[in-house]
Amino acid sequence: MGSAKFIFITGGVVSSLGKGIAAAALGALLQARGHKVRLRKLDPYLNIDPGTMSPTQHGEVYVTDDGAETDLDLGHYERFTGVSTRQSDNVTAGKIYSNVIARERKGDYLGATVQVIPHVTDAIKNFITADLGDEDFVIAEIGGTVGDIESLPFLEAIRQLGNELGHARALYMHVTLLPYIPAAGELKTKPTQHSVKELLSHGIQPDMLLCRTDRALPENERKKIAQFCNVPASRVIQALDVKTIYSVPIHYHDAGLDHEVLQFFGQKSRQPNLDAWRRIVERVTEPESEISIAVVGKYTTMLDSYKSLHEALIHGGIANNARVKVEWIDSSIFEKPDAVNRLEHIHGILVPGGFGERGTEGKIAAVKFARERGVPFFGICFGMQLAVIEAARHVAGIQHASSTEFHPHENPVVGMLTEWVKGNELHKRTAGGDMGGTMRLGAFAAHLKQGSLAEKIYGAREISERHRHRYEVNIGYKEVLEKAGVIFSGLSPDGTLPEIIERTDHPHFIGVQFHPELKSRPFAPHPLFTAFVSAALAQSRLV
Ligand code: GLN
Repeated sequence: MGSAKFIFITGGVVSSLGKGIAAAALGALLQARGHKVRLRKLDPYLNIDPGTMSPTQHGEVYVTDDGAETDLDLGHYERFTGVSTRQSDNVTAGKIYSNVIARERKGDYLGATVQVIPHVTDAIKNFITADLGDEDFVIAEIGGTVGDIESLPFLEAIRQLGNELGHARALYMHVTLLPYIPAAGELKTKPTQHSVKELLSHGIQPDMLLCRTDRALPENERKKIAQFCNVPASRVIQALDVKTIYSVPIHYHDAGLDHEVLQFFGQKSRQPNLDAWRRIVERVTEPESEISIAVVGKYTTMLDSYKSLHEALIHGGIANNARVKVEWIDSSIFEKPDAVNRLEHIHGILVPGGFGERGTEGKIAAVKFARERGVPFFGICFGMQLAVIEAARHVAGIQHASSTEFHPHENPVVGMLTEWVKGNELHKRTAGGDMGGTMRLGAFAAHLKQGSLAEKIYGAREISERHRHRYEVNIGYKEVLEKAGVIFSGLSPDGTLPEIIERTDHPHFIGVQFHPELKSRPFAPHPLFTAFVSAALAQSRLV
């Protein structure tokens, strides 16, 4: 584990305090001071990974280059620090227990009674300290809220690790909420005091408190928290609500976060230059123009399901100096005749990734509208598959064109792939096999067609993008679909898997089998999003 210093982040009082963004912002600030950072997330639930959870419950499943299905906080880590995350940066209680139990069966612990302490806690400690290089700081975020039963082994593991590393190498940061009670006209500190007490009962004295609040923290309250929680007042950091998450690093810096962390470790380093962050914030809050994009999907009640997608659209806006107003539309409303006409004022239509048949006819209606009306279209993963089905049905005249995801089909336009090669390995799956971890996952290369829109947008012929899907567009339909105006502008290196499609008869119609939103960053907007927003801007000048 080299000589890295470890910052453990826990949460208290309530969930959804933005611990992930706080961790990511701290990472960005330490980086801006010239330090090398790595961020990791430990999730106390029993799923092996979030891949099998409903996006409406848990939010988006973030996929890494090396094919891990992970928590969406890893997306924040990448967007804020630009450091690509890996399999070894996210673990769940399920994975830890399953490894411990597998080792027990193998006989690795022969003679021992296998217990939470030390076997489970050792496995957690190993995860935190494994696969590191010359990082200066490792920020390890513990999911959930202190007091949850599942969190206990994780708190115990970081307590032990802090003790082993010593004070010079371990910092405990606790993120809490200071609610404002209008009747009293005060920010209340009691929930924070209780949360710290709870943490203390597990043997952890926080070194620093990050207090989420909707208004400035008065000096008196800060002193009170410091006194009751046994933390120096300068390390009670106010974390105000902000307009855009991209201003979080600036605000937390102004509140003293990175200064106090370095002070704690007795380190001196240069002041960070946050001008680049200021420029991003300015672009996001005061852009020159504005466009409206419709995202026609299924999980529109839980916007965390499309976290990276929403951020990537904002990045496309940053690149074009435009505000991207997103209308999240539940596709099922388009299943009524003519309902899609409500898309008339929209400057770009995006059909995102998704699973299952429900709502697909509405998505297909939205694709048809975009194709026929010349509205910029962007289909991602499921969105590309449905765009191909739309062309097959309505242009190529294959009336029953469909995907085997919905029904068995003799010769499907979108079907399940049972074998594919990655590196030197042959991957296999069967129709009735496991649901977890059996998709085409992670980074795959694609070749782009010379002279295509895709080639123009990427400015390259070879690309690599992250995937997460079970089904593929059937290359057997290539010729028929080409006659119907579809261009297969991106293919897997062996030419068998369609990766990008466009249209001959449309100004901006792109479908991609992968998830470009996962690699978009505020400082490096993904070219497909930049191009889509730019096409939508052109459209906004027409309508
Ligand atoms: N349901 C489709 C598949 O499994 C698309 C998945 C997605 O959009 N991520 O292939």
